[in-house]
Amino acid sequence: MRQDQEDPYQRRSAQVYAAADRAAGSVASPRAVLYDAVLLDRDGTLIEDVPYNGDPEKVRPVPGARAALDRLRAAGLRLAVVTNQSGLARGYFTGEQMWAVHARVEELLGRFDAWLVCPHDDADGCDCRKPAPGLVYAAARELGTTPSRCVLVGDIGRDVGAAMAAGAAGVLVPTPVTRPEEVAAAGWVATDLPAAVAEILRRQQAVQPSTPPTEPVRTALVVRSDSAGDVLVTGPAIRAVAAGAERVVLLCGPRGRAAANLLPGVDEIIEHPLPWIDPAPGPVDPEAMRSLSTRLGAVGADQAVVFTSFHQSALPLALLLRMAGINRIAAISDDYPGSLLDIRHRVPVGVPEPERALSLAAAAGHRLPDGDEPVLRLRRDAVPPRPADVGDPGYVVLHPGSAASSRACPPEVATRIVGALADAGHRVLVTGGPDERAVTARVAAAGGTDLGGRTDLAGLAAIVADASAVVVGNTGPAHLAAAAGVPVVSLFAPTVPFGQWGPYRVPTVRLGDAAAPCRDTRAARCPVPGHPCLSGVDPGDVVNALRTLAVSGGGGR
Ligand SMILES: [Zn+2]
Repeated sequence: MRQDQEDPYQRRSAQVYAAADRAAGSVASPRAVLYDAVLLDRDGTLIEDVPYNGDPEKVRPVPGARAALDRLRAAGLRLAVVTNQSGLARGYFTGEQMWAVHARVEELLGRFDAWLVCPHDDADGCDCRKPAPGLVYAAARELGTTPSRCVLVGDIGRDVGAAMAAGAAGVLVPTPVTRPEEVAAAGWVATDLPAAVAEILRRQQAVQPSTPPTEPVRTALVVRSDSAGDVLVTGPAIRAVAAGAERVVLLCGPRGRAAANLLPGVDEIIEHPLPWIDPAPGPVDPEAMRSLSTRLGAVGADQAVVFTSFHQSALPLALLLRMAGINRIAAISDDYPGSLLDIRHRVPVGVPEPERALSLAAAAGHRLPDGDEPVLRLRRDAVPPRPADVGDPGYVVLHPGSAASSRACPPEVATRIVGALADAGHRVLVTGGPDERAVTARVAAAGGTDLGGRTDLAGLAAIVADASAVVVGNTGPAHLAAAAGVPVVSLFAPTVPFGQWGPYRVPTVRLGDAAAPCRDTRAARCPVPGHPCLSGVDPGDVVNALRTLAVSGGGGR
């Protein structure tokens, strides 16, 4: 089913349940930052899975379902069911029987704002059978929102895959039939439906300040050290701070400077390495630390918000900020901060980095204003025009490298991917930094155009913004794609959690072995001979992933 066509089952569902009228009155005010709607798989998620059931008498809700759904309704979230019912295509039950089952589900679990059903089986090659994203797009449309403001709860990899391919969040609630590799690949896993609901509501709440700042903030100092990707994923939180402050000064490191230049909401940038953050630090230079402290004091900030990732400490900088005379300091710290922090914030493992940072901004009293979605964004005036010689938009960008080699695509795999994409009719641009020219030349020789070393980060952002899709590992350009709303085929080495570092709120297909031995090692160099998490990627799967993302060979999207 194309997105602009109507499926008879979906049209009927909208008529029966009048979704739009009900949705209009239930929007929370002020608008929730993260989600408008929760989409739920039916069999194995809401009710016990009775294969090809056409009998209302056999409907059994999973434990705690009614109370969990009522919590979502009470929070102003709209609810839709998104379900594959291939029994229709196979003639195991009729449409009438299925709607009798759905009526029974509503009798037991309360009303849903929309029901979206795929009546096909795999052989039909439709665009709505999960893991294709068609039902998620249709549900979002029925509910008057967008996929990125939806979170889908399901019990198998097809559910999570459909959510991600539409740019929605996906929560996996495994059952005994869920395959271990599906659990490993999911970025967000909950033990049961009530736990999934509790975490959805917790995350939604965590990015809304419970109290506004007690005093107005004239100048806020925000800090995000480390590399380009780290700076980019902190963008939404920095915009939230900027919405509540007259002036924002960003302290970043040398490796994040180019990304810092691209962030909206930043008025001034201070660049300085932090030896307790950088991966290859020089020795601590007391004079440099004294001069940094003096420089930070001269900012005149009345609030500092120190952003870090989950294995970095904010406390050494907090001490420097205290010595610089800054009185209101907020940071995430599991370690005891003593009197270094005024707001000590804590976040569970697994929360996407942009939300983790937004929750710290919220703890410091800031939220994104209505109308500013919590997506990654770049300053338009900081991105140069795309070079004319790369051709018209509609190409696929393949970026094989990464500053951390453990997260780079092996060159021989990237070479075969370029060949497969070219064979499928895709125009491929191969990008990389100045030190990656040898690799990009070799990879592009298989049928792409070599742009290795041609661009700085802003120039790469321009090329990525006009791509139909980007094929990339867990590295900065994946976040540039997310910032441009360009779909990502993520060749994701599992050294860090996908749920934290995967491309945020953009249609994504994840490839690679999520259960490889490098999982959660945070290794910068692959600790396993042969780099098995990515060396087994099948180039045909990349071609199929682009099809799932509705990116066609021949230029269109
Ligand atoms: Zn279908």
